[in-house]
Parts: sequence; C-alpha cells; structure tokens
Amino acid sequence: MSGKRIAIIGAGPIGLEVALYARLRDFEVVVLEQGTVAANVRSWGHVRLFSPFGINSSEWGRAAQPAADLPATEALLTGAEFSERYLLPLSQHSLLQGCIHENTRVVTIGKRHFWKGDAIGSRSRLGSPFTLLTESASSGEELIEADFVLDCSGTFGNHNWLGDGGVPAIGERQLSKRIDYCLPDIAGKDRSRFVGGRTLVIGSGYSAATAIVALGELIQQDSATEVFWLTRKATDTPLATIDGDTLRGRVDLTARANELAANPDSQINWLKASCVRQIETDDDGNIQVTVEQVTIEENAEQGGSTCKVVPVDNVIANVGYHPDRSLYEELQVHECYASQGPMKLAAALMGETSADCMTQSSPATDTLKNPEPGFFILGAKSYGRDSRFLLRIGLEQIQSAFDLIAAEAA
Ligand SMILES: Cc1cc2nc3c(=O)[nH]c(=O)nc-3n(C[C@H](O)[C@H](O)[C@H](O)COP(=O)(O)OP(=O)(O)OC[C@H]3O[C@@H](n4cnc5c(N)ncnc54)[C@H](O)[C@@H]3O)c2cc1C
Repeated sequence: MSGKRIAIIGAGPIGLEVALYARLRDFEVVVLEQGTVAANVRSWGHVRLFSPFGINSSEWGRAAQPAADLPATEALLTGAEFSERYLLPLSQHSLLQGCIHENTRVVTIGKRHFWKGDAIGSRSRLGSPFTLLTESASSGEELIEADFVLDCSGTFGNHNWLGDGGVPAIGERQLSKRIDYCLPDIAGKDRSRFVGGRTLVIGSGYSAATAIVALGELIQQDSATEVFWLTRKATDTPLATIDGDTLRGRVDLTARANELAANPDSQINWLKASCVRQIETDDDGNIQVTVEQVTIEENAEQGGSTCKVVPVDNVIANVGYHPDRSLYEELQVHECYASQGPMKLAAALMGETSADCMTQSSPATDTLKNPEPGFFILGAKSYGRDSRFLLRIGLEQIQSAFDLIAAEAA
C-alpha cells in the first residue's frame, strides 16, 4: 500500500485511530479536521462515558503510547479525560507528524473527471483520484487528491429540529442560538445560566437524562430552579430500562432520571406525549414555548390535544443528530431512507433487535461497502441518525475497511 494516499475527514476518536492504523500500513495520510483534535468529545468533556477505556481504545493506539501513561482498561473516563489522556497523545504520535490539518473543513468530495452519474457502480471510478475541496482561514480554498477517502466526520455538529415530526417548531430557526442542542455543563461552567431559572428539556435519551439529573442537583442547591421535561411518547417512564444492563453508570442515570420525573416534589415536571409547536420571545426577550400534549388515559375517548404556554429561561433540545450528506453529494453513495446511514450497514442495523447497544453484534465487513469504490463512511456517521453507535464498533470497522481497501487495491 506504500504510496497510496488516504484522506480522513475528522480527527475525532475514529478518525485518529484510522490515521494511525493507515500510517502503520505505510499509506500516505492526510487528516482534515474542521476544528481541533477531538473537538466533539471535548465539547461534552464534562460527561462520563458509560463504556470503559479498554473498549473505547484500539490495541494499536494503546501500543503506540507508553503503558504507564494510559488509563486503566476498566476506567470510566469523562470526555475531557479521554481526550487529554488518550486522544491528544495519539494525535501527537511521531507517525502522525504533519498529517493532521486542524481548522480545515472539507466542503465536498468528488472524483477527478468523473461526474456523479458516470460509470455507475463501476470499478473504473477507482482508477481516478478523489478530489476534496477544503477551506481554511490560513489557505482559503484548496483541492486535495486521494486514492481512498474515509469519512469519519461524525454527526454531532448537525442537530435535529425539536418540533413535531422533526420539523422546526414555529420560531425555532430564528431562536436557535438560544437553544442548547448539545450538552451544557450544568454543574460547571454553564451553571449560572440554569441555577434559579426555568429550563425546558426535550428528549428521552441519555443526553436528556444527563441534563435532568444535573438540573435535579441544582434544584437541591437553589429551590427557585424549575424544570419541564418533555418527551413525545406516552410511556410509563421517560427512559426505558434495559433488562440485565451491565453498565453501572447507565443503570444509575436511568433510575435517577426516571425517579425525578415520577416524584411530584422534585420540581421536575414531566410532560409526556407532548411536542413543541412554537417558540417565541415576549417583549422583554423571555422565551415562551407552546407545548401540545395529546390527551391520554381518562380523556382517551375524546381524543385530541391541549396546548399551553410554558415560559422558560433555557431550552435544552437533546433530540439527536444527523449526518452531513453534502460532503458526498457528488459521489455514488446508497443511503438508507430512514437513518440516512449507508444502506448496507443500515439494513444490517435494522435487523439488530437488542435494546442494549452494548450487546449489538458487529456488522459484517461487506456492510461498509458503497457503490462508490474507495469511499467509506466510518464511526458515528456510519450509523446515520441511529444513536446506537459505540466506539468498540468503530474500531472494528477500521480493520474491516482496510480489508476492503486491500481487496479494492489488488
Ligand atoms: C455525550 C456522549 C456520550 C457518549 N458516550 C459513549 C460511550 O460511553 N461509549 C461509546 O462507545 N460511545 C459513546 N458515545 C458515542 C460515540 O462514541 C461518540 O459520539 C464519538 O465521539 C464518535 O466518534 P467519531 O470519531 O465517529 O465522531 P466525532 O467524535 O463526532 O468526530 C468527528 C470529527 O469530524 C470533524 N468534522 C465534522 N465535519 C467535518 C468536515 N466537513 N470537515 C472536517 N472535519 C469535520 C468534527 O469537528 C469532529 O472532530 C457518546 C456520545 C456522546 C455525544
């Protein structure tokens, strides 16, 4: 593989692991990162990972660093610790020197002399290099060529909308700068925004639960703090519990968040079977959220819904993320119409019935194949809107992708 050029988009955990793996196999590697190394993981640095360090890191990544500096395999690190103790040192490995270009965004990828509709699904496209249009403050726009492209750009930067059916609520787009679509550090640097105020949290996943538990602690410290927790389904508890869950942190988080929702004295008001219709500000700039709640149980025979206006200071929308598909718009990628992940992998994931992402089986090597030869989507982005992605799966994908690259190059 000596001399073959690989372009990797994103210096997150998977992009960095791929880069080292490729350098160990003598590829020429360029990593293009729109922000800085591990930017997304660091943005949720205050959150503790559920899975232990040993399965979040690769054999080759650990072997490349002095054993004494590595966290224990069973350690449950925060995002910040994972970055500082593993990902940043990995990015500084001598084999990666000069390979990682920070603050360089990939705008789009094409093929030299081949348009999207040319040579459909044909191996002949492999004979022509990929061209990546990049932009950076220092060099402006540039075109970079590569023989293989691995898109590890994640989904974290592209939030879903919080309105019903994924459509923006009325006014949401105009007020989006006042909405937290990520994970604010409620106990730490963002505390002053939340303490003593009214916060609406939307979502029924672990991110929303993390926010609810942190807000529950703020209520203990300042009883003027009040919370509304909106979830869209008419379930008995906001979060589903996983039978036989082996991850202590996840068990505790689920139990605590559900307990806060069930307790009428917790000052966490759970609005189930609800959605947001409108977000606006009053004359003083305060946020007013119109919440629609489907009438259930005793009013079931009447059906319908009721609307009420909830005045709040903060809105946290933990409603998921989706992939940026504009990067490969000019390539031949077969996407799933539901998850927007690459089709073969998405089809395999649809057959995965376990409620626990930890017990999911690794999709077969072939599921990483696209109609576009030489182009692979790895890491969180490969799951599209499906939130079950785990680093363990991403690390296995790397070895599979290189098996496919070796077969394609042969
Ligand atoms: C709060 C939270 C907790 C999690 N906990 C766990 C856990 O316990 N265990 C587990 O296995 N998984 C966990 N995950 C899921 C997953 O492992 C992480 O999301 C992980 O960061 C995914 O790694 P990645 O490299 O695929 O993507 P990311 O970490 O999102 O990295 C993508 C990189 O690509 C860059 N990028 C994006 N677009 C471009 C572009 N156009 N040009 C150049 N660069 C670009 C971004 O800046 C970023 O640096 C968690 C996720 C979250 C959000």
